Amino acid sequence: ELPTIYAITPTYSRPVQKAELTRLANTFRQVAQLHWILVEDAAARSELVSRFLARAGLPCTHLHVPTPRRYKRPGLPRATEQRNAGLAWLRQRHRHQHQRAQPGVLFFADDDNTYSLELFQEMRTTRKVSVWPVGLVGGRRYERPLVENGKVVGWYTGWRADRPFAIDMAGFAVSLQVILSNPKAVFKRRGSQPGMQESDFLKQITTVEELEPKASNCTKVLVWHTRTEKVNLANEPKYHLDTVKIEV
Ligand code: UDP
Ligand code: MN
Repeated sequence: ELPTIYAITPTYSRPVQKAELTRLANTFRQVAQLHWILVEDAAARSELVSRFLARAGLPCTHLHVPTPRRYKRPGLPRATEQRNAGLAWLRQRHRHQHQRAQPGVLFFADDDNTYSLELFQEMRTTRKVSVWPVGLVGGRRYERPLVENGKVVGWYTGWRADRPFAIDMAGFAVSLQVILSNPKAVFKRRGSQPGMQESDFLKQITTVEELEPKASNCTKVLVWHTRTEKVNLANEPKYHLDTVKIEV
């Protein structure tokens, strides 16, 4: 039986949200044995996301947790609380299986990235923690783990090369077993500098030597850190609104 892939996606309300989620669901629907953990950055589950998931045709769990206002500032890491809510749900669901968990793999899937289907084949065989290149990130065409004799020995990156794990959120997966046997591993707010979220998390559960390189020894880009342009709503009417109310 295939290990289940758990995708944790933080998401927040904005004009492009439904478009992003539609693109993501269209990808995930092509992947066997995938469970989508969608975590809204909000005080309650929204109607838009609830209706969307009901029609998405995917095994999913719909969570929500608001980011405290003090953390909604430029330069601070995003979606810390949402990723932790996903981790907590996963641990709660498997709380009786610490010794021998059902085979599973977790990864963090931001709602605006672009994921190839090959990526899921690669991450599915994760034993502990696996890594691969990420396209369009760090001010470069790609970042990647440097591999020698099947082991990660460093990082090809143009940004903060001092990071212990110089890798984007989209560049790694973790086995369910590792998540359960490290029950305290979470994303931290305190003392977390920009770009250090991944390193802070990974150093709680693994070492660089232990990483499993995927994507042909980290020589292929199978995921892209794409970002969606801010929508121009300059011509939204203030009066003479449309006669029907349409969800976008
Ligand atoms: N996100 C969120 N709340 C926010 C900002 C972002 O839940 O206030 C989510 C967003 O939907 C995405 C992830 O966190 O899934 C990363 O955010 P973003 O894509 O803006 O970060 P970047 O691309 O700059 O790393
Ligand atoms: Mn993004």
